[in-house]
Amino acid sequence: MMKCRKLALTRCCLSRTLTPCRGRQVLCLLTLLMASVTLSAVALRMRGSEAPLSLSDFLHILFPLELAGHRRVPPCALLDGNDTELKGPIDADTDSIPSLAELEEWLAPSLLPGGLFIPRNCRPSHKIAVIVPFRDRRVHLKIFLRHMHPFLQRQNLQYGIFIVEQAGDGPFNRALLMNVGYREALLLHPSLDCFIFHDVDLLPLDDRIRYSCGGQPVHLSANIDVHGNKLMYANLFGGASMLTKAMMENVNGFSNVFFGWGGEDDDMSFRVRSHDMKITRYNLDIARYTMMRHVRENKNDRQKLLIDGRKRIHSDGLNSLRYERVRLDLRPLFTLIEVRINQTQVLTDQGLL
Ligand code: UDP
Ligand code: MN
Repeated sequence: MMKCRKLALTRCCLSRTLTPCRGRQVLCLLTLLMASVTLSAVALRMRGSEAPLSLSDFLHILFPLELAGHRRVPPCALLDGNDTELKGPIDADTDSIPSLAELEEWLAPSLLPGGLFIPRNCRPSHKIAVIVPFRDRRVHLKIFLRHMHPFLQRQNLQYGIFIVEQAGDGPFNRALLMNVGYREALLLHPSLDCFIFHDVDLLPLDDRIRYSCGGQPVHLSANIDVHGNKLMYANLFGGASMLTKAMMENVNGFSNVFFGWGGEDDDMSFRVRSHDMKITRYNLDIARYTMMRHVRENKNDRQKLLIDGRKRIHSDGLNSLRYERVRLDLRPLFTLIEVRINQTQVLTDQGLL
């Protein structure tokens, strides 16, 4: 007995044969688990996360560990148009507005805190972040969550939903929020490798629109009902689009200087196309979306910003991103990241003021 107590725990961990170690191996595994969680936490702090770590943060750090347990299951089958489990065209209920409590009761049991989902029976090819820029669209958000969680789960995807909310009432900056979502999601889950940038008011109407990255950037929302069910113009990249981590890094993310409505998606379209990538889409009869009604924002003249933006690609984007994170909340159905943006500072940084 004495001998056992004196044996270093690590020796017990390594040994299957040492008799005095019997019964200590569970303790050993627990210790190793705690150590890896602590190390991950330290690493997370070192990567610049300012908020204190909560219990939920620890759960998030366990996300990649959770994955490790999935090595023994087969890879998730690639679902395509011929897959019988996917229904093809689907409806979207945009009339009834659920309460968040109702949604949580229904959806949260299959999710991890922060709105993360891991398929049980197969090992997914990608780890996906759905990043949603947001402010003052609570009704849309509830309808979005009700539609999107089941939609993504039917595709057997491993994903998290990240709502990036702009604080205050300054001009909305959709593209900067996308960069924030990308950066913060990766800080929480370094193994994410596929990013879907998604307006909160858009709902896919076909199960065959696969929300998982491939070899080229994908413009998902090609055919939107309120746009007359046609592709508005050839280089369109707004609404819902999908890029791998490598593609995002390659183009330095989105531009940060587009305050107010419009232009940022065209700037991103140019970034992608000028880096030897091709925007791909599903056929219009598959890539169908409905857009929930909202007031139209005023259009701004973006010509100059867009033309000069071509020279700014490698100085304006992820490498110049500045914001103040005011909240990081692991809600049952999504991770909420609230940020304040200093417009004067962002524009001054780029010599635009
Ligand atoms: N958005 C938001 N609050 C706003 C403005 C925009 O949450 O006040 C987000 C939301 O995700 C929205 C997206 O930015 O779907 C694009 O804005 P909007 O729908 O106004 O653009 P449009 O559909 O007119 O291109
Ligand atoms: Mn819209």
